[in-house]
Amino acid sequence: MDVSSLFSLKDRMALVTGAGSGIGQAIALGFAQAGAKVLAVGHSSIEETKEKANAKGLDIVTITADLSKEEGVRSIVDFALKTMGRVDVLAYVAGTIRRTPAEKHSLEDWDAVMALNLRSAFLMSQLVGQDMLSRGYGKIIHIASMLTFMGGMNVVSYAASKSGIAGLVRTLANEWGGRGINVNAIAPGWIKTKLTSALQADPNRYNTILSRIPAGRWGEPEDLVGAAIFLASRASDYVNGHILVVDGGYLARG
Ligand code: NAD
Repeated sequence: MDVSSLFSLKDRMALVTGAGSGIGQAIALGFAQAGAKVLAVGHSSIEETKEKANAKGLDIVTITADLSKEEGVRSIVDFALKTMGRVDVLAYVAGTIRRTPAEKHSLEDWDAVMALNLRSAFLMSQLVGQDMLSRGYGKIIHIASMLTFMGGMNVVSYAASKSGIAGLVRTLANEWGGRGINVNAIAPGWIKTKLTSALQADPNRYNTILSRIPAGRWGEPEDLVGAAIFLASRASDYVNGHILVVDGGYLARG
């Protein structure tokens, strides 16, 4: 076995959503550094990602779309297949959250979170999966959460969507694992991004969480890159339906 190329993404065609900020941006830049050709999908803006890629001399293609809508998902997969010819790696990182107590959580919020975090995660996996199945090769990575394993507070739709990701990933892994496709998820711990800005701004919540993280710090988006490259590369060829926890030990604390 040639271990030197185990983690290489050389000449892999990678589609990364949620790439305009946070974890998705770090993964898109990481994939490009590992040798992949990357299509980075943002929502309202993808400029910062483009600038960071340029500064590192990385060649990535950027585009924006509203992935909460079916047509947004379909148009991005069409664009990816036209511009790259195929998709070897899908990292579906786009996600959103609504914070209100369960008794006041509106159906609008429920639907908005479910549409982006679960419905479109399925649709994009299905469309990209069809292309991967026709070639017998592919790596699909979803983003789960600590709330895949435990209940949250005031984020009932988010917790339900991220628990749904576990079912999505395991079912796709069952159906496609024997046909050359690896489907897995990463469950990040508490990461400093826009999504957690409300928690970071509340010293009480921030420090309560911090006190339970064995690593002794909140995570940074870059902390997820190694796990993403592992799940996108040949190194994970025998890893199917797994939820890889990258949380500084938070879940181990119990
Ligand atoms: P973030 O807010 O920086 O990233 C979310 C991304 O989703 C943004 O780039 C945003 O533009 C994109 N997005 C939002 N609505 C969209 C839409 N309608 N269409 C297309 N794109 C849209 O926060 P993040 O923490 O980097 O989140 C990335 C993923 O990680 C999400 O799935 C989130 O649920 C998950 N996650 C984050 C944490 C954490 O602690 N930050 C923990 C567990 C899971």
